[in-house]
Amino acid sequence: MDQVDFYGDRKYCHHCGEYVHYLMSLEHSYCAGCGNRVRLFSEADWAQFHEQIREQRPKGGRPRKNRESA
Ligand SMILES: [Zn+2]
Repeated sequence: MDQVDFYGDRKYCHHCGEYVHYLMSLEHSYCAGCGNRVRLFSEADWAQFHEQIREQRPKGGRPRKNRESA
């Protein structure tokens, strides 16, 4: 059986609708099959990725000032 390393050397191609092998340029990556630009994740995975990041972040990023009156 073929071993599929999902996020290893593949990115998501919207045109193909699946994770594909890709060619890298300086700024972007392109599908090896159809030549369209690929992304690191699919839309769904991307959303999930952001969800995870947001959950990991501490809430209320504003530093609280505890100013003691002298
Ligand atoms: Zn493609």
